[in-house]
Amino acid sequence: MHEVLIVGSMALDSVKTPFGEVDRVVGGAAVYAATAASLMATPRVVGIVGGDFPQEALDFLVARGADLAGVKRVPEGKSFYWSGVYDYDLNDRETLDTQLNVFADFHPTLPESFRQSRYCFLANIQPQVQLSVLEQLEDARFVMCDTMNYWIDNEREALLEVLSRVDLALLNDTEIRQLADTPNLADAARRVLDLGPDYIVVKKGEYGAALVSRDEHFGIPSYPLAHVVDPTGAGDSFAGGMIGFLAHQDNCQSRDLRRAVVVGTIAASASIEDFGLDGLKQLHTSELLVRCDGLREMVQFEPIRL
Ligand code: AMP
Repeated sequence: MHEVLIVGSMALDSVKTPFGEVDRVVGGAAVYAATAASLMATPRVVGIVGGDFPQEALDFLVARGADLAGVKRVPEGKSFYWSGVYDYDLNDRETLDTQLNVFADFHPTLPESFRQSRYCFLANIQPQVQLSVLEQLEDARFVMCDTMNYWIDNEREALLEVLSRVDLALLNDTEIRQLADTPNLADAARRVLDLGPDYIVVKKGEYGAALVSRDEHFGIPSYPLAHVVDPTGAGDSFAGGMIGFLAHQDNCQSRDLRRAVVVGTIAASASIEDFGLDGLKQLHTSELLVRCDGLREMVQFEPIRL
């Protein structure tokens, strides 16, 4: 089993959607990504939690094969807390509250065994922290990063440094327009490629995702679902699915990247079917493969001849 390093938030989330609400359920980018990746690889998780973080959630990750040597628990502290609300257009969410708590002191030192990780996902965290993790990697083969509007606005220099050093950047449509300062997504992706990464994944929520490199553009729809309950964590499940698949293949050619985007799309689809991690937990290898085949069917077509 190949290992993937996953660095990011481990959170308690309160979420309200038109279909219900939950209070202080386990979430966080690293938890979603590790859960998705665990279907294909061994996640090495790096994060920080407070005394209030449920032990069952850590036990679940261990049962999925994760190595939690990089997870620090601060018993006297509180976990990162995020709360958000979604409207009927689930692509659009409003953050109501972010409490960093122990996450404010997240300056990870990688356990010795984690430094040789070859496949890595740096989830949405302060770019300086992403840089410090990059400094500690000794044998990285493929590194993906995520970010958010706050860092694009407030830590642009450090973020540009991160982008110059990763292989793939995941951005949603709003973020990439903001980063590249242009409204056209294809143009924006080209401009971000000029900053350093070999690949960009543009996430477009329910409209799908595109993988863009200097000479390729691969776009796929999202997996159609009759019931979407909570989109929180979709992007992180997507990323975890991608990096888990790449580690499993131990290859990162364009054909692997394309299939990784499909696996990410399916991990995201399961994630949004229920609140918190409940949807993603239901996804097992057999269903993952069935959905991947289904998506493949959906996008195949014969050549057009007139
Ligand atoms: P996503 O829906 O993929 O963007 O990820 C949502 C997850 O990211 C939630 O579980 C939150 O706990 C976590 N999150 C929200 N805001 C932040 C932030 N500023 N830094 C790190 N993680 C965050």
